[in-house]
Amino acid sequence: MSASRQDHDDSPAAAGYVGHWIDGQLRDDHLRVLPVHDPGRGVVVREVAIAGAELADHAVAAAVEAAVTWGATPVASRTRLLRHWRDLIADSQVELVHIMGEEQGKVRADAEGEVMRGLETIDFACAATQQLKGEMSDNIATGIDAFSVRAPLGVCAVITPFNFPFMAPAYLSSMAMASGNAVVLKPSERVPSASLVLARLAAEAGIPAGVLNVVQGDRVLVDALLDHSGIAAVSFIGSTPVARHVYSRAADAGKRVQAFGGAKNHMVVMPDADLEFAADAACSAAYGSTGQRCMAISVVVAVGNSGDKLVDAIAQRAVALRVGPATDQDAEMGPLISAASKARVSTAIETAKSEGARLVLDGRSHELAETSAGYYVGPTLVDHVTTGMHVYQEEVFGPVLSVLRVETLDEALNIIDANRFGNGASIFTTSGRSARTFQGRASAGMIGVNVPIPIPNAVYSFGGWKDSRFGDQHMAGTEGFRFYTKQKVVTSRWPDAPSDGVDLAFPTSRPAQDGQ
Ligand code: NAD
Repeated sequence: MSASRQDHDDSPAAAGYVGHWIDGQLRDDHLRVLPVHDPGRGVVVREVAIAGAELADHAVAAAVEAAVTWGATPVASRTRLLRHWRDLIADSQVELVHIMGEEQGKVRADAEGEVMRGLETIDFACAATQQLKGEMSDNIATGIDAFSVRAPLGVCAVITPFNFPFMAPAYLSSMAMASGNAVVLKPSERVPSASLVLARLAAEAGIPAGVLNVVQGDRVLVDALLDHSGIAAVSFIGSTPVARHVYSRAADAGKRVQAFGGAKNHMVVMPDADLEFAADAACSAAYGSTGQRCMAISVVVAVGNSGDKLVDAIAQRAVALRVGPATDQDAEMGPLISAASKARVSTAIETAKSEGARLVLDGRSHELAETSAGYYVGPTLVDHVTTGMHVYQEEVFGPVLSVLRVETLDEALNIIDANRFGNGASIFTTSGRSARTFQGRASAGMIGVNVPIPIPNAVYSFGGWKDSRFGDQHMAGTEGFRFYTKQKVVTSRWPDAPSDGVDLAFPTSRPAQDGQ
């Protein structure tokens, strides 16, 4: 049963409240409310409605109705509206960057990069006219033509994590909408506001009411969407245990599912690599976004004699990083998302130490980690990590870089292969042969050669292997359009002669009288 907003006006964050966007209208239904924190200050900035199955019914009903007209709207008309939406989003960059700083702690340059990447994906989604083209075979059998079309699925649920408050919702929603579907978007309850901006701007762009709906909630709402008969497909991004749950529960309910999970991304550094270049890359990729990226580098595998020099070079860079809140225009690295996250990352560091790894830099003793009410852990570098250690086995999802040392590229590749995650992997080398061996053998979905965070342009899609992805289609690229549409093949004949009569033989492409 939903409560009314007035029941909670005495809450600490009553000045700000994030509700839902359904059928072109703001709604405030909730079972309860949750505080939304500014991780940089450790204070509550607003509260978010947490809704349940009843609200899911409203949102799905609106989307089901909107999907009929939207799916029948010519693709060029749909993408014209999406392009307008994209331009309004670009004009709202300052607002989005501010929201991401306030709710996620993302520092300015990182948040601006996120907006830019999201816009590039919407640009790609606007290529739907080309991507949704069918195929045609003239006279595939005597007097018979065949052609294929890609039809929308109906309503897609999009469920997103806290670490990309704008990009993940924009990425999946734009692809789903360009393909002719209506969307019910459930962002992370920790970063609820950016998605509402997207919905408001969609309305301003003229995208019809009900095509993009936003619902706020937690696991209760997610399960209601996974079970809902009005939802045809589910796109999920988040941690591996939840991805696995979403994949099996939604598939059980007969839906098409893609569920992107967690990661442990390795960066192999060969002895022939330019170590200064590699150290810059490792530092950027490990500590950017406070290590809270599914493509963050969390493991460096130093091959041969590269280890000592590399560790020194990374440490020099890491201690010089400026850590601070999003309001600090010069901050390069922000806080973690929550106090719980800070506690989890701190435990991982302590466990690494107790298991025998060498703490080169301990972010728990960073000044802000000790004095600020925000959720800070400074850049942490852990050397001589082995594959059995907790810090290697778990996705720490914080600014903790582990260094493993091996003798050969073969050993490095075996380590990557044995890891349960397979999102990204990269190699730093000046040898074409090592690079080519690596790109062929590394068991991950996205490979970098002298590129630490190999996030492909949307044209090439995005998606990992192993426990980093459940379901067989990537997020964008041609696979994205495949995921959000179903194929129909039309076989047609316009006879110019009388019927040959009844023929119970299995239809073939050859005339029956040719004797074969
Ligand atoms: P999360 O799994 O806790 O939450 C993701 C979404 O699922 C949220 O909307 C949340 O409300 C919902 N949810 C949480 N617990 C649930 C449950 N038990 N049942 C149903 N729904 C539930 O993830 P997070 O902490 O928000 O995000 C960080 C994780 O996301 C990391 O593991 C990171 O690697 C991963 N991630 C992966 C990719 C990728 O493309 N593979 C991209 C970004 C983030």
